[in-house]
Amino acid sequence: MVVGELIEEVDLLVVGGGPGGYTAALHAAALGRRVTLVEEGGPAALGGACLHVGCIPSKALIEVASHAWRGHELAELGAAKTAGGFDGDRFQVGKAALIARLASGVAGQLANAGVRVVEGRATLTAADRVSVHSGADGALVAQLRFRDAILATGSRPIELPALPYDGVTVLDSAGALALADVPEALAVVGGGYIGLELGIAFAKLGARVSIVEARERLLPELPKALLRPLLKRLAELGVAIHVNALAVGHADGRLRCEQADGAALVDADKVIVAVGRRPNVDGLGLGDAGLADPAGALLAPAPDRRIAEHVAAIGDIVPGPALAHKATAEARVAAEALSGRRVAFDPAAIPLVVFSDPEIASAGQTAAQARDAGVDAIEVVMPLAASGRAATMAATHGFVQLVVDPQADAIIGAHIVAPHASELIAEAVLAIELRASPEDLALTIHPHPTLSELFAEAAERTPATS
Ligand code: FAD
Ligand code: NAD
Repeated sequence: MVVGELIEEVDLLVVGGGPGGYTAALHAAALGRRVTLVEEGGPAALGGACLHVGCIPSKALIEVASHAWRGHELAELGAAKTAGGFDGDRFQVGKAALIARLASGVAGQLANAGVRVVEGRATLTAADRVSVHSGADGALVAQLRFRDAILATGSRPIELPALPYDGVTVLDSAGALALADVPEALAVVGGGYIGLELGIAFAKLGARVSIVEARERLLPELPKALLRPLLKRLAELGVAIHVNALAVGHADGRLRCEQADGAALVDADKVIVAVGRRPNVDGLGLGDAGLADPAGALLAPAPDRRIAEHVAAIGDIVPGPALAHKATAEARVAAEALSGRRVAFDPAAIPLVVFSDPEIASAGQTAAQARDAGVDAIEVVMPLAASGRAATMAATHGFVQLVVDPQADAIIGAHIVAPHASELIAEAVLAIELRASPEDLALTIHPHPTLSELFAEAAERTPATS
């Protein structure tokens, strides 16, 4: 008998070792399940796109770029004290060490929880079975029959036919994060999360950056008011913005764009394409397992994340924002649902954060969305200019906005543009989840001097409703 011919029995199988997959494995193990996790890249790839080519390396680049821009030192990631000082090789070494350390932390947690990690690519071959292939030759390394399975195979960048990735000039976000040299002229196609985060970081490192966005404005999915303070910083950094523009090709160091008023040529030694991500569901064998195969589109799970009695799907392969914290929240629900608990993924708010400068964070409803749903919502805005702490940080462009449902006497949304908005939003998410009233927030003692006081002040200014 050769390896892989034997069919092994698995209690709970997880496919994919990203934030969704490894959290599902840990949670299922804590519920007493015997868990096997199959990850294409093996133990070194645990942490998925988020750890290896997404959240963590992009935040490392953003951090180091801000340090370098301000002339501060962050030696382990390659920022020197001289203004503009940045050592790209050192950044890559520091980044790789940081990722390896965090991936081994995930591997350690899984080992401690008794989760078995199998290296290879899993493909469903029947309703209760996967085959696992590994290595350059795609050798069959295991066949696993599972009682329950959680699919968490994540996503990959969308490729534009006019700008195929070549790994040298036209790069996806992973390619951009692997650059050791800062391009002189950089075009970023897509003015969404990645376009803004990486565009700002490279501008701070000295690149001449242009952002090309197909729609009428940057970050078209987020409330418009959040954009204003950001546009000021983009102008300061000399970032050129082309909206209502489609990139149609790259040649001779120029990106060609089509706009309503004709064609434009944008200088670009390198082009980063960041126009969204595609779920990794093709080639997963969904049809062979008798599951609906959405032909490359998102799967459609039930509220408890099941797509069949014994199979759940989570993370970037199901609807909702493609975010690590959404994947981990779904992971817990899926592990519990498949372990016999009655649960549903039904958050009142999923925080959205753009690690731009200033940072943008948004949770819950905007006043316009609430009004569309028939709620006579009130919005209360506190500008950063009203904050003593913001003044000490010389960061007075931005605001904190609360959206309140006066009938329910509850906070239903919060939208922030401010330094550390990514940290500040957590308080608002808790308030929304707990259906806190403005008074609850106003009477909560906030530390002084902090930006968080703006929440209490906005809540205090909310007109009395009863
Ligand atoms: P993934 O992290 O994609 O993991 C899926 C795993 O499954 C991979 O390791 C893959 O190798 C494996 N796999 C795939 N197919 C198979 C198979 N058939 N068999 C075995 N293994 C398989 N989100 C945030 O919340 N905050 C951020 O700041 C943030 N920044 C980002 C920055 C960038 C540049 C990018 C690209 C993304 C960012 N994201 C961020 C999004 C975040 O990375 C994803 O939402 C998150 O990784 C999704 O987790 P997941 O578990 O669904 O999938
Ligand atoms: P995105 O959806 O955030 O933005 C893509 C942008 O590209 C949109 O504004 C869209 O209008 C534009 N676009 C689409 N086609 C275009 C074209 N042909 N030419 C020009 N513009 C075009 O996608 P992204 O920036 O690639 O990021 C992918 C996902 O990764 C995000 O949606 C998010 O879920 C996740 N992410 C999250 C964070 C974070 O949480 N801070 C950071 C990075 C990525």
